[in-house]
Amino acid sequence: MSQRPDSPFAALGLASPLLRAVAERAYAAPTPIQAAAIPPALQGRDVIGCAHTGSGKTAAFGLALLHRLEHTRRSAWRRTKALVLVPTRDLAVQVGETLRQLARHLTDPVKVAVVFGGVSVNPQMLGLRGGAELIVATPGRLLDLIGRNAVQLDDVELLVLDEADRLLDEGFADELDRLTALLPPQRQGLFFSATFPPAVQALATTLLHDPVRVDLPGKPDAAAPAIEQQAIEVDAARRTALLRHLIELHRWPRVLVFVATRYASEHVADKLRRAGLAAAAFHGDLSQGARSRVLAELNSGALQVLLATDMAARGLHIAGLPVVVNYDLPRSAVDYTHRIGRTARAGATGLAVSFVSAATEAHFRLIEKRQGQRVPRQQVAGFEPREVTAPAPDPTGGVKGRRKSRKDKLREAAANEAAANEAAANEAATSGAATKGG
Ligand code: AMP
Repeated sequence: MSQRPDSPFAALGLASPLLRAVAERAYAAPTPIQAAAIPPALQGRDVIGCAHTGSGKTAAFGLALLHRLEHTRRSAWRRTKALVLVPTRDLAVQVGETLRQLARHLTDPVKVAVVFGGVSVNPQMLGLRGGAELIVATPGRLLDLIGRNAVQLDDVELLVLDEADRLLDEGFADELDRLTALLPPQRQGLFFSATFPPAVQALATTLLHDPVRVDLPGKPDAAAPAIEQQAIEVDAARRTALLRHLIELHRWPRVLVFVATRYASEHVADKLRRAGLAAAAFHGDLSQGARSRVLAELNSGALQVLLATDMAARGLHIAGLPVVVNYDLPRSAVDYTHRIGRTARAGATGLAVSFVSAATEAHFRLIEKRQGQRVPRQQVAGFEPREVTAPAPDPTGGVKGRRKSRKDKLREAAANEAAANEAAANEAATSGAATKGG
């Protein structure tokens, strides 16, 4: 299969080995983010790309960086020319796989090394022997490998940050500082993310040179328009029963359910299995092998329900995922956007259902406010909540004393939710259904 020279991808100016790879993946035309970001990237400009998850970001930066590699003189020793940083190991594996496929017809073969923490370092060190032109890495493991002299970054010409908002966040600040200090100052930067809050954008700008900002139509922090959002009012203790009911009623072939903790993911998965559903937990305690197996089973249809924590699910692409359920609400509006972006990828439509209880109502209202959109509350027959929602705070601040700040309210909502979860877990434990967390 090959793309005709007048194909929409050829018009972007991509090298012909890449057009061949794109044709093999049956991409008919560039997605909007690809059409907007690839031309400036090919000119050597730095790019800040803001697009919804599932918009084709990986191929946007992948094609741009491989085009550059195709035109870079290489030495016999495979010096590292391009570095892609990602926040999680699952994303590292997915991005590495896409890049290998896109690189397969390049004139000189490109070695793509994928390194991430949580597994033994030795096979990764072996894999890096003889060098690799392209490294996809999580920051901590990359620093570890640099410390062991398995990687050198002095020749890196191009730095990609995928899920850049997360990498530029406090959690990775230290590691990112140490890594960027090792990179040559003369380099091209391509930073991509679904969300770029102002503080992150400011930080990104310090690492880039006169970047072109590529925004797609729509509010960058809002959910993709193809996602229908629903909020169902239900008591915390009835959520598992409601989840089962919805899965059976709608016959969802595949569903990704977000929970707050590893314990909850194991516990709810176990309850669904007992009810005869093919369900599995997905969290940071699982080995890489177990996580890959679970994902393969979900993609093949052997598994129907995945109970995941935020940590594990960031950046995941699950083919044909019609619905995402927030069993526990996410901590922030940004996490909400990321979660529901797992459905409706590459132009498909999707449904995002959030369970809201009396204890979490205030927290959900804050998320709606940040999203700039109200999601109508619904109830499902047989699961109507019995707990009463606290009335909305008096906007005039009628009571004497300091008005609660947003942080206070978030803390309070989180505490309420934790109490509700505990109550639900206790109830399950006393009814003998509780299982040990993994
Ligand atoms: P990403 O946003 O990189 O996670 O990509 C989401 C999905 O879109 C992946 O399954 C890609 O294979 C797919 N994709 C990327 N580019 C295109 C394109 N130009 N046409 C159709 N599908 C695409």
